[in-house]
Amino acid sequence: MARLLTSFDMYKKLGVGRSVVTAREAIRRWRVRHAAEGNEEYAEPMTTNDTPIQAIVNHGRWMILCECRNGVNVPPRNTPNHEAVCPACGTIWTQVVFPPEAAEIESALAERKFRHTQSWMPGETPDQLRQETASKGGR
Ligand SMILES: [Zn+2]
Repeated sequence: MARLLTSFDMYKKLGVGRSVVTAREAIRRWRVRHAAEGNEEYAEPMTTNDTPIQAIVNHGRWMILCECRNGVNVPPRNTPNHEAVCPACGTIWTQVVFPPEAAEIESALAERKFRHTQSWMPGETPDQLRQETASKGGR
């Protein structure tokens, strides 16, 4: 049983979630470094998008699908700042929306043996997730 991962786990090496470094600042620094190495796409300025965007679970991680099609890690749902920052295009998503039954979804997915089978899309109920887990022998 493994809890779902968040951007705090994924960006730990960058210092996110530990202290004063926000995902926004960590990704900004990452983009500056890569732009300096000649990756011009990362030199574009970061932009803010206040449109609500639905969180999903993919391979054991809460994430969003950015408009650029990149999967972007999101912070834990119980933190006040829900910004998700796309390293690929630099969009700062300020309104990540978690489903009302998020805790129950996490609990249902935690029963699965493998992280790569811990996925959830809007419309799937926790009961459906549990039935699927049972039908596949806990995987
Ligand atoms: Zn993006």
